[in-house]
Amino acid sequence: MDIQKNIKEVLAQLPPHVRLVAVSKFHPSEAIEAAYAAGQRIFGESKEQELNLKQEVLPKDIEWHFIGHLQTNKVKYIAPYIAMIDAVDSYKLLAEINKQAAKCGRVIPCLLEIHIAEEDTKYGFTFDSCRQMLDEGKWKELTNVAISGVMGMATNTDDEAEICKEFARLHDFFNELKNTYFNGIDTFKEISMGMSHDYQLAVREGSTMVRVGSKIFGERVY
Ligand SMILES: *Cc1c(COP(=O)(O)O)cnc(C)c1O
Repeated sequence: MDIQKNIKEVLAQLPPHVRLVAVSKFHPSEAIEAAYAAGQRIFGESKEQELNLKQEVLPKDIEWHFIGHLQTNKVKYIAPYIAMIDAVDSYKLLAEINKQAAKCGRVIPCLLEIHIAEEDTKYGFTFDSCRQMLDEGKWKELTNVAISGVMGMATNTDDEAEICKEFARLHDFFNELKNTYFNGIDTFKEISMGMSHDYQLAVREGSTMVRVGSKIFGERVY
């Protein structure tokens, strides 16, 4: 695996306004160091323990994104340093992040994970449950989180038309939320969509942030 070459290849395909989250889960710190040497600073992890171990030993200017399902009892361990929590899938989790962020004197950027795939194994708000949560309005009192946009994963399929349709729906939903709840709130701006096999489609459909793992680091060994 030539990690530096892979990073450069992916970056060359991204327009300048699209940011790359290099998904390093299940890969050792040495792999992250190689990507870091190529200039990469944003990394995504999905297990709190693994992330904590890496965060301790790796450079402190890395921006860590938590991209997996986060249990509420784990929030306190990452709250002091996490740059973004990409997959908030309940109001309960958002409230806990707010509480732990307040203890650290921080405001933590969060993305709302929206279920867009035709598979029901994945986490996330449905469009309706997300609207309902935002309509209730309690989130407005959570001053230590910054709801910064939406995140979604398309169906794992070779059907590009289906993938594009799902990404387009997420983009539409982002626009709806922006107009309805976040009008004039500049921090609400991210559409995180696209992984190794579909990030080019995601960029075409308006992604602002892609999360690419295996294309950079190789297959994960679980
Ligand atoms: C693992 C993971 C990725 C990266 O997947 P690849 O197919 O290896 O690029 C992206 N997003 C989330 C939420 C993930 O869990």
